[in-house]
Amino acid sequence: MRLHDNKTLLASTKSGLPVLCAFVFDRNILDRLDNPLDRRVSFIHQRITEMQKELRSLGGDLLIGYGDPKEIWKEWVDQLDTIGFKVSEIHVGRDYEPYAQERDRNLDEWFVRKNILFKGTKDNVILEKNEVTKDDGKPYTVFTPYSNKWRKALTAEDYAAAPSAEELARVGLVNHSELLNRPVPGLEEMGFENVWDDGAWMPPAKVQNTVLKKYGDQRDFPAIAGTSRLSVHLRFGTISIREALRQGLSSSEKWTTELIWRDFYQTIVYHFPHSATDSFRPAYDAIPWINDEQQFDAWCKGKTGYPMVDAGMRELQQTGFMHNRVRMVVASFLCKHLLIDWRWGERFFARHLLDFDLASNAGGWQWAAGSGCDAAPYFRVFNPSSQLQKFDKDLIYVRKWIPEYGSSLYPKPIVDHATARVRAIETYRSVLKPNPA
Ligand SMILES: Cc1cc2nc3c(=O)[nH]c(=O)nc-3n(C[C@H](O)[C@H](O)[C@H](O)COP(=O)(O)OP(=O)(O)OC[C@H]3O[C@@H](n4cnc5c(N)ncnc54)[C@H](O)[C@@H]3O)c2cc1C
Repeated sequence: MRLHDNKTLLASTKSGLPVLCAFVFDRNILDRLDNPLDRRVSFIHQRITEMQKELRSLGGDLLIGYGDPKEIWKEWVDQLDTIGFKVSEIHVGRDYEPYAQERDRNLDEWFVRKNILFKGTKDNVILEKNEVTKDDGKPYTVFTPYSNKWRKALTAEDYAAAPSAEELARVGLVNHSELLNRPVPGLEEMGFENVWDDGAWMPPAKVQNTVLKKYGDQRDFPAIAGTSRLSVHLRFGTISIREALRQGLSSSEKWTTELIWRDFYQTIVYHFPHSATDSFRPAYDAIPWINDEQQFDAWCKGKTGYPMVDAGMRELQQTGFMHNRVRMVVASFLCKHLLIDWRWGERFFARHLLDFDLASNAGGWQWAAGSGCDAAPYFRVFNPSSQLQKFDKDLIYVRKWIPEYGSSLYPKPIVDHATARVRAIETYRSVLKPNPA
């Protein structure tokens, strides 16, 4: 969702024909979201409104639809035809999630029949699909060898800026009175409310080099602003991943590795679409989860009696963000201490995270549950109290999110760590012996 450094837009200018930018609010996705205050929808809506203004100031417009993408596209292609614009090419940014893959395949079939070129472009990741594989051509499922190969495969071309805005100005934008000045569909019309008008905080779409220089030392401490907070912008493309990588390569090796994790999970979901909803290692689907609803509720509300878990869950609910170290702690606590199916946690994160990304979220959850590729071994159970000692020993983060901490109002632990740890290991071992596959 940006006009600059956008490879999809750049690809659309190659034919030399004028370009019309378009965006579909996809009902197949939106109708499944049950929270009218969903932060992501407000974010997208706000950004789309801004982009429409940007494009109008350049003499063009942004065509916006709300519905089933295939129906919308059929309507648009016909409408454009009747006012004298023959659509010859449609360019989309490639998306690796299972639903998007299927949607784009269906669209492609329809466009082929209409003699329209439908082309996906890699814009949202640095290296995709089969660009980083083992020597036998199979996808990697372990991160370290993947990242070594990723670094070897990387060329300057992969992170060079794409001069999309300049090229757009050169070829020009489609403009016609029948197309201009259509309003953006209202959030209310789509069943949502605006959560950004009330002064909600949004991190800036850039990170200071000073943060990246200290990233390796500070990234694990949730009370410090030691990470980039770019996740929402990378998720929605309000900054370019190539721009981020250029900065990473010149400032921080460790931070660059995090960007490689992002590519890794996108590649995993592309090659193993089942991992978005089922355990990457099928044996883990046999774990007899306890799934206690009351304990799940305590976890969601940040009332487990474990301060690092509770602070994280409250940060999530109040801001739509949670620090990475704390995500690992709360996820491990849910799967191992409470023996609640990782999918319950994954769905809860999906509803509340502004940076929700199917590939990274399922990857992160399965890492914590032990069921994913390159996951934490099942017998390693984070101790939430030692994590607190290590990463927030002065309780700055905890006190920020739990004002009643230390008073009688703060709940007692809902499970005992030592007992829960043994129970988790035994439960996992009972279905995974002798060799988890
Ligand atoms: C259980 C769990 C769920 C998660 N769900 C998501 C999610 O839905 N969306 C999401 O973007 N990240 C997710 N992560 C990864 C990570 O927690 C966030 O990307 C990070 O906290 C975002 O903060 P930041 O932008 O300051 O990151 P930084 O530390 O500054 O990292 C820079 C960027 O690298 C990428 N990145 C960093 N860590 C990871 C990682 N482990 N996996 C993949 N990409 C990474 C992100 O795009 C991030 O913005 C999850 C992690 C866990 C353990």
